[in-house]
Amino acid sequence: MIYLDNAATTKIEDVSFNAMLPFLKEEYGNASAVYEIARRSKKAVFEARKQCASLIGAMPSEIFFTSGGTESDNWALCGAYESFRKKNTDKEKSGHIITTAIEHHAILHTAEYLESLGVSVTYLKPDKEGFISPEQVTGALCDDTFLVSVMTANNEIGTIEPVREIADAVKSLRKDVLIHTDAVQAFGQIGLQDISKHVDLLSASSHKLGGPKGVGMLFVRDGVKFSPYIRGGMQESGRRAGTENVAGIAGFGAAAEYSFAGLDAKISAETALRDRMIAKLADITDVIVNGAYSEGNFSRRLPGNVSVCIKGIEGESALIMLDQKGICASSGSACASGAREPSHVLKAIGRADDEAKGSLRFTLSAHNTEEEIDTAVEVLKDIVGRLRSRG
Ligand code: PLP
Repeated sequence: MIYLDNAATTKIEDVSFNAMLPFLKEEYGNASAVYEIARRSKKAVFEARKQCASLIGAMPSEIFFTSGGTESDNWALCGAYESFRKKNTDKEKSGHIITTAIEHHAILHTAEYLESLGVSVTYLKPDKEGFISPEQVTGALCDDTFLVSVMTANNEIGTIEPVREIADAVKSLRKDVLIHTDAVQAFGQIGLQDISKHVDLLSASSHKLGGPKGVGMLFVRDGVKFSPYIRGGMQESGRRAGTENVAGIAGFGAAAEYSFAGLDAKISAETALRDRMIAKLADITDVIVNGAYSEGNFSRRLPGNVSVCIKGIEGESALIMLDQKGICASSGSACASGAREPSHVLKAIGRADDEAKGSLRFTLSAHNTEEEIDTAVEVLKDIVGRLRSRG
């Protein structure tokens, strides 16, 4: 098998797996209890909080564990809305959010839900490489804007947004507007060392960086008044109830520390593989690279992302044929695959429907080898030839 779908999920790293093992069997204490076995669980959760915090230069007390990126995104938007409602009881203001047309569905569907409650939402359109500019965001601010949510990096096309610049531009005009970023695809993939000094809220997910599935986090900057989303017990300082998934959290923490320690090496390895693959794909006629690709912008693309539109083929058919050869890839976003509609991200950057339908996404990891990349491209060339000859 050649696994080139790391934006969908990653192989669990040994350090993460080993960190989880004790908490799946003998270390079963409830982290909220007071006796020794429980204290060990509590300590593991605290350790993971420190490990996750250090990736973004945050304090451990600013990290709240969740069930994954989707919950963190839902919490960010709904929590911001509830806080806004509490402050504005006059009902005169319905509230306004600024986000982008290329967010993950965890954001877009939550924004639509808030629209059903009366909030107005601006969905900013990116340029043809997927970038949103600070000026676009500040230009959309209204009196009752309470939240800006712009993803750190796009899951389909790999474009890295200027989130710091956006946050600084908004805060220079409106300190009361909360800034959220969905960093699910960027956390542990690119340097985010001081992002916590610029944004108020940040979502991340464990299974995108070699940790287990079903665990994530929301960073909430110290001092930000923010409503809880899951109500119940006093876990996570009373802000996210529910008995902690200790094993998952320990695995997440270990994966975060591991990615942080090896980040530079990982970025260079993935960048080299990505550039090799893109260069080789250019041998196929009518291939368009999606996302940041123009002169000077390649560094503003996720190191492992190769997203292309190949004219004259159906991406879904190519995926099935790649699978028959043991190659795992994706067309558009994994969460949207299976859906017949062309990807909302590719449409937002201006791809025509037939171009978008011919899209393929390969997301590489530092575990991949040059041989795997070369084999995948050779197999793909053959598949494209066969699909085009069918007409
Ligand atoms: N946000 C982005 C940008 C993603 O790519 C994903 C998953 O692919 C999510 C949110 C959802 O994360 P999770 O799978 O942890 O719920």
